[in-house]
Amino acid sequence: MSPGSTGPRRPAHTPDGRRVVIPPGVGPAVPGRGELVLIVEDEPEFRELVELWVGRHGWRTATAADGLEVMRRFEEEEPDLVLLDLNLPGMDGWEVTEWIRRVSTVPVLIVTAMGSEADVVRGLVTGADDYLTKPIRMPELVARIAAALRRVKLAGVRPNEDEPIEHPGLRIEPSTHRVLGEAAEIHLTPTEFRLLVTLARHPGVLRSHAELLRGVWGPTYGEETQLLRVTMRNLRTKLATAAPSRTYIATEYGLGYRFGAGT
Ligand code: CA
Repeated sequence: MSPGSTGPRRPAHTPDGRRVVIPPGVGPAVPGRGELVLIVEDEPEFRELVELWVGRHGWRTATAADGLEVMRRFEEEEPDLVLLDLNLPGMDGWEVTEWIRRVSTVPVLIVTAMGSEADVVRGLVTGADDYLTKPIRMPELVARIAAALRRVKLAGVRPNEDEPIEHPGLRIEPSTHRVLGEAAEIHLTPTEFRLLVTLARHPGVLRSHAELLRGVWGPTYGEETQLLRVTMRNLRTKLATAAPSRTYIATEYGLGYRFGAGT
């Protein structure tokens, strides 16, 4: 399927049965740079629709219809991002996320028809970076993919910010992505790590929800407070497990969060 701008109109259907027509010449609004996006989706027509959009924005695509195929794809190629449907036959999306996190740190973007907070929480706890609820808007999907890939690029290119950050009972090492608590190492997902670093670099400074979303997830974010809340909860749980007597992150209700240096 060529990503050319003069292709025929292609009808497709979303999982809830709506007919979607891809207009010719869509994009590329966000030119991709050839990263490989692994699309995990068991519904062929929806998978094809997503593949078309992703391909038209300059990314390479690979597809998988279930968890076993995901494992094969990881063996054969090195995906740069995984777009993951939660509701899959066999291994479900959460199990797939757990498996991916054992072998890779690539961004996992969950696509779910369920959309309940519990599903989203479970997805983010198992190591996903972001989520979208079906029916998804394709331009938004493309923007989220671009933002996730940009986060990966930015992660390793700020040498002047690689100095370890130290607070009582906590040492954060940006260069190695390690966090050491009082008693043990704290294992964070890449997104939790970015959130912690963003706050801990400026102790005492109030960071608004929108500011944190833009800083951690990317410039196109700002309204996704549930995503921030769930990631913050996971981060705090892990910090509290490592240092039960200390509180590092304070909530300023309705305003944002402030790093409190472990007092
Ligand atoms: Ca599905």
